Amino acid sequence: MSENSEPAFVINCPECDMDGEFEDVSAASLFYSKHREHTSHEPEWERADLAVNLAERTQWSVFCDECAETWEFSSESEVEVFMAEHATYTDHEATEIVTDEKTTVATDDLIELIREFDNVTPDGIPEALIYAVTGDLGLSKRQINAKVDELKQNGEVYEPSTGHLRAT
Ligand SMILES: [Zn+2]
Ligand SMILES: [Zn+2]
Repeated sequence: MSENSEPAFVINCPECDMDGEFEDVSAASLFYSKHREHTSHEPEWERADLAVNLAERTQWSVFCDECAETWEFSSESEVEVFMAEHATYTDHEATEIVTDEKTTVATDDLIELIREFDNVTPDGIPEALIYAVTGDLGLSKRQINAKVDELKQNGEVYEPSTGHLRAT
């Protein structure tokens, strides 16, 4: 964060043409949740400078000419194991390893984020706040929703009220 006085959180409601500026995630989240509750509007998070440790991971792809197949991995060690096994259990070696710039957020990091901030409002952490933070990493709402659905199915998070999440 820089020394200037940019607020850490900016919420804008396009319907009301109303801006809220906050230094604190709880105040921002409460404004977001209450504005939604009282107006049924969907305010946008223009800024969400949340100090979270969301690792950007490189996606590894292994391609085999012989099999004409691609396999994807999230670490170099997984790639090494796969390459060794491919050489052992087939009669050839996989040909190419490609590292992809694609950013992903690990499910573990996501549950940690939810757990750390699920007390920012009485209803939990706004999903829109998660989208704002992960959007800055270049992740789409759809990618995050897929992970959130996974966490819900595993019973690790639930939705105390619409658009809010809490860890179990
Ligand atoms: Zn509004
Ligand atoms: Zn092969």
